[in-house]
Amino acid sequence: VMLDSLAPDLPDAAAQAETVAEKLLASLNQPFALDGGQHYSTPSIGITLFGEQRLTVDELLKRADLAMYQAKAAGRNTQRFFDPDMQAAVNARSNLEADLRQGLARGEILVHYQPVVDHDGKLVGAEALARWRHPQRGMISPADFIPLAEQTGLILPLGQTVLHTACSQLAAWAQNPATAHLTLSVNVSARQFRQAGFVAQVLGTLKDCQADPRQLKLELTESLLLGDIEDTIERMEQLKKEGVGFALDDFGTGYSSLSYLKRLPLDQVKIDQSFVRDVLSDPNDAAIVRTILALAKSLDLEVVAEGVETAGQLGFLRLHGCEGFQGYLFGKPVPVEMFERDHDLIHPAGGVPPVQTTPIAQPGARA
Ligand code: C2E
Ligand code: MG
Ligand code: MG
Repeated sequence: VMLDSLAPDLPDAAAQAETVAEKLLASLNQPFALDGGQHYSTPSIGITLFGEQRLTVDELLKRADLAMYQAKAAGRNTQRFFDPDMQAAVNARSNLEADLRQGLARGEILVHYQPVVDHDGKLVGAEALARWRHPQRGMISPADFIPLAEQTGLILPLGQTVLHTACSQLAAWAQNPATAHLTLSVNVSARQFRQAGFVAQVLGTLKDCQADPRQLKLELTESLLLGDIEDTIERMEQLKKEGVGFALDDFGTGYSSLSYLKRLPLDQVKIDQSFVRDVLSDPNDAAIVRTILALAKSLDLEVVAEGVETAGQLGFLRLHGCEGFQGYLFGKPVPVEMFERDHDLIHPAGGVPPVQTTPIAQPGARA
């Protein structure tokens, strides 16, 4: 069997090849009815990847053959890769997948909250960010499990867990005058957004939790623009009609087409932290940030700059008209109790909430 059009990078290509091998095994494991009897086979599959180096056909077949003998040695009815490192990577990935599946079932997926502040440094809301509290490995960052969750489909239950947690939090905040105005932003993967019944699921979750749709913002990435754009607009509009807001996350890093940007019913764009990081030292990044701010203004979109770490970055952003900020300068993502404490949001009955909840660093001041 030769597979083509695999992903350009090795780990992804290996994962795809593995999926095909699993399918072949599953089909070949069906019993055969031969001459009135049931027969079973236990195939061994050897896999080798090629592309980077030039190898002869013979060499490739030899490698696949070697890998096949490893599969036999491992007890047959399985598959092996030629490269031992690759095999290790494939194993690690499937362990992680099994782990994540269990972790979800055991409630190990938590939500941390990172503050979003306005022009004056006043807290306006938070972004809900998934964390995995692994019993052995400790806290795992989403960068290490969201891509896997997306590839395996686990993003659907995971995303729903995060959405449900965020909506319950909104409902709890609505009870307190100090927090009732806060909005929550929830990240939604393309796969999640495109699943059948996504709109009904979001509205159902809001209703179950008795949360106000107007306080919920869904963060989409530019990868959605690659798919069926009419369907995307349709789904967004159905949710918008109920009050749900939309932000385009990591803006500037993807496949933005300005004509699409204009057509999507967005409320906000988030400037990716990679542009904010070097905004003071890299003239290209500075130009990109200024352009995004001007563009957003002309399209009447709110802007939140992500990854604001220093007063200098804040000063630049404010100077060029940015009105919303998120980053370590204002707070890292933390559990909700810490979030409420850090921002002085918990008040005994009758207490007066402070007007300004986060001191804002002035440009030029020390962060
Ligand atoms: P994102 O949505 O762009 O979230 C912002 C990321 O920037 C977060 O990383 C946050 O911790 C980090 N960050 C915030 N301020 C600063 C700063 O000042 N400096 C630096 N260096 N980093 C900062 P995190 O929490 O690791 O999340 C990474 C990405 O994983 C998120 O990027 C988002 O795309 C994805 N993600 C997180 N939770 C979920 C989820 O529930 N569902 C989906 N689909 N994706 C999620
Ligand atoms: Mg986000
Ligand atoms: Mg982002």
